[in-house]
Amino acid sequence: MDFKFTPEQEVLRKAFEDFCKEEVKREPEGWIGGLAAEESDEGWAYHRSVVDKVAGKGWLCLPWPKEYGGHGHGPIEQLIFNEVMAYYRVPALPFHFMTVAAGIMEYGTEDQKKEWLPKIARAEINWAEGLSEPNAGSDLATVSTTAVADGNDYVINGQKVWTSGAHRADHIFILARTDPNEPRHKGLTFFINKIGPGIEFRPLIFMNGSHFYNETFIDDFRVPEENIVGKINKGWYVMMAGRNYARANIAAAVSGKRDLEDLIECCKHTEEGGEILARKPLIRQKLAEFLIDYEAAPKFAYYVGWLQSKGKDVAAEAAACGYYANELNLRLANSAMEIMGLYGTVTKESRWAPLYGKFQDLCQWHSGFTIAGGTTEIRKNVIAWSGLKLPRS
Ligand SMILES: Cc1cc2nc3c(=O)[nH]c(=O)nc-3n(C[C@H](O)[C@H](O)[C@H](O)COP(=O)(O)OP(=O)(O)OC[C@H]3O[C@@H](n4cnc5c(N)ncnc54)[C@H](O)[C@@H]3O)c2cc1C
Repeated sequence: MDFKFTPEQEVLRKAFEDFCKEEVKREPEGWIGGLAAEESDEGWAYHRSVVDKVAGKGWLCLPWPKEYGGHGHGPIEQLIFNEVMAYYRVPALPFHFMTVAAGIMEYGTEDQKKEWLPKIARAEINWAEGLSEPNAGSDLATVSTTAVADGNDYVINGQKVWTSGAHRADHIFILARTDPNEPRHKGLTFFINKIGPGIEFRPLIFMNGSHFYNETFIDDFRVPEENIVGKINKGWYVMMAGRNYARANIAAAVSGKRDLEDLIECCKHTEEGGEILARKPLIRQKLAEFLIDYEAAPKFAYYVGWLQSKGKDVAAEAAACGYYANELNLRLANSAMEIMGLYGTVTKESRWAPLYGKFQDLCQWHSGFTIAGGTTEIRKNVIAWSGLKLPRS
């Protein structure tokens, strides 16, 4: 990889860092970043206020053309931004916002791009992602939600599940079946619309007790034909444009690295049996092992960005990068729990909880992240057929 940051990229990094150093001063107590933002009203208010400022600086969509609200930068600038924001745990847009944006950018009409992309770049819209269903996850081609033409509208009926952050959303994108006679992925269409009558979200309480996910019930939800992205029955390709975008994830690698730093500090200041944890040989070995992995993880993401900047197909590398970071974060959270012993299981409400009970919480969040947006096994399948050129199973 013949790649090093340009002076302009270093200037940009410094601007992001200066911004983050100011914003973290306002973060709510016990803030762990990421999805925690949408759980409490206080977290959501902080999230929105920061995102509005970031959007005001035009940083949310750096690689987009200027006419749609971007800066015309490349994938490396986007990675620098994501890296810095993740390190400081400063909220930016959730991934699925970029899923819909990538679909509109690649398959939308010029009118759709002009209407929707600047609103996303200005963070005016909060999206819910209506893709997965109770019987359609890894194999999304089995989606059974239907959309039927009625005048100038389509009427949508069905059920979606795991709809992240939907209770904070005002818009939704939905993959629905428009032609039941076409084989599997050929009869699907991608809709975007303001949330309105016909959409009901019910909380899907996560195993750690938080409300971030939802079930979505769709009952005669009307969407005008002009809000179809791409062509009728070609929604699969629109959805895939976004999925491919979401697979290279530097934020996961970097937020884990920051969590490791917190764990190391905690081990330096916590005693067990009259000895500080950081003196125990097995714990020192474990921390050193994680340090190596977390040095490698962001560099892997930059490698993917560098390949992208050369116009290469990165399906296998991006899948490997996401798989590596997600599994690493889960391993770290599990190891942190072991290192902290019984205290590691104590939740944030207790004064005995180390680091606000963060690792028992992360243990649960991260097990979900090895599934969301493509499970570990699906990512390995992509590596097998796209990277290793093995036959598709
Ligand atoms: C935390 C979280 C957040 C999510 N957020 C959203 C959201 O906002 N919007 C949305 O639409 N969806 C969301 N999802 C849904 C997510 O995309 C699906 O859960 C995921 O794609 C897996 O689908 P499934 O749950 O139906 O599992 P299944 O597809 O039924 O898989 C079950 C198991 O079988 C394995 N498996 C399946 N197929 C294969 C194969 N071909 N080869 C090898 N192994 C295989 C899987 O790896 C898994 O271990 C979220 C899920 C989670 C857990």
